[in-house]
Amino acid sequence: MSLEDHVEELASDLDVDKEEVRRDLENLVEYSVPMDEAKQSLRRKYGDGGGSDGTPSSKAISEVSTDDSNVTVTAVVLTSGRRSIQYNGEQHVIREGELADESGTISYTAWDGFDADLEPGQTVQFGNAGVREWDGKPELNLGDSTQTSVVDETLDIDAEVGGESSLTDLEPGDRGITVEVQVVECEEKVIDGRDGETTILSGVLGDESGRLPFTDWEPHDAIEAGASVRIEETFVREFRGAPSVNVSEFSTVTPLSESVAVAEDAPRMSIREAVESGGQFDVELAGNVIEIRDGSGLIERCPECGRVIQNGQCRSHGAVEGEDDLRTKAILDDGTATVTVILDDELTARIYGGDLEDAREHARDAMDKEVVADRIADRVVGLEYVVRGSLSVDEYGANLNASEFSESEDDPSERANTLLREVEA
Ligand SMILES: [Zn+2]
Repeated sequence: MSLEDHVEELASDLDVDKEEVRRDLENLVEYSVPMDEAKQSLRRKYGDGGGSDGTPSSKAISEVSTDDSNVTVTAVVLTSGRRSIQYNGEQHVIREGELADESGTISYTAWDGFDADLEPGQTVQFGNAGVREWDGKPELNLGDSTQTSVVDETLDIDAEVGGESSLTDLEPGDRGITVEVQVVECEEKVIDGRDGETTILSGVLGDESGRLPFTDWEPHDAIEAGASVRIEETFVREFRGAPSVNVSEFSTVTPLSESVAVAEDAPRMSIREAVESGGQFDVELAGNVIEIRDGSGLIERCPECGRVIQNGQCRSHGAVEGEDDLRTKAILDDGTATVTVILDDELTARIYGGDLEDAREHARDAMDKEVVADRIADRVVGLEYVVRGSLSVDEYGANLNASEFSESEDDPSERANTLLREVEA
């Protein structure tokens, strides 16, 4: 077969332009690549994965399944965010986001070899995109054998372009996200990173919908407590069951001239709803305190690590001189589920009706530390409280670190109705 015959065959098999194939093939042969190998390589480049079946079939996004190996889809780019990851000991920048067509949405990852820029809002045809399973769902893998062409076509999609989101709508796994927020809390931390010690920022962001924790892995000057900023290209991870906003070297942070208002209240949930969500950074619960758990009242902490110790023994540091502290672990029940509410020294002092010094004296007089926990139990068990704080759900159970703890002023019948509605739902 002559070169021209090979060109003819490839162009017809792959349904691509003959001139293009000829140019590529001549190039490869000039570099002494054997003809068979050169043809294989072009088949890979133009999409026929070496099989006999020509280009992969065009599919609607809803039809793409994890059984597909390669597909061609035409879709609108919803979001596009970069992330630096490490594999095989090397640093790689990947691009991730979501695509949509009339039938649905699908996420994608674009690897090193994929060099097209994806702009949110563009309609793009992706030829020969790989399909892999991610989190139980199909995801498109865009690589050097994926051909892209921006098409002049408007798709009637049912999805928001650009990734602008309020904090409550964020979910772990979201990528290429833009938020406009106020930095509610911010502190510098030194961590052991990939390349030794690095400084990062961590804290809390707020908007009108709520609050979420954040980490800035590449500290941006504009991120400081009290500042209102627009952050583009963030991604969302799970931290203790709740979404956490991640700011990276690829994120753009722009100060806003107008201050972003932050919601005063945390969303109110039933305990069951909150526990089933896997964790809530800032939530309000209401229920009855049914018990005060062991480890409440006047306790001792290890001076090294702050863990609560018993009989002067820390699990990590052995025999230590314990430091006195006040803490309460109260079980809250609203009829749907229970949660352990943890009150710090200040909240504990308030319900106990005295500070650490008073508690010490109380215990000395009675020659028993337990009197402190007993008095707390006497005062709160059986009463109804509204609690606000951060809920984590893990192998240690459902624990809420309270920032507010106050006796409920709710109308009991109103709460009963809320519960009924929930049970019926
Ligand atoms: Zn310790």
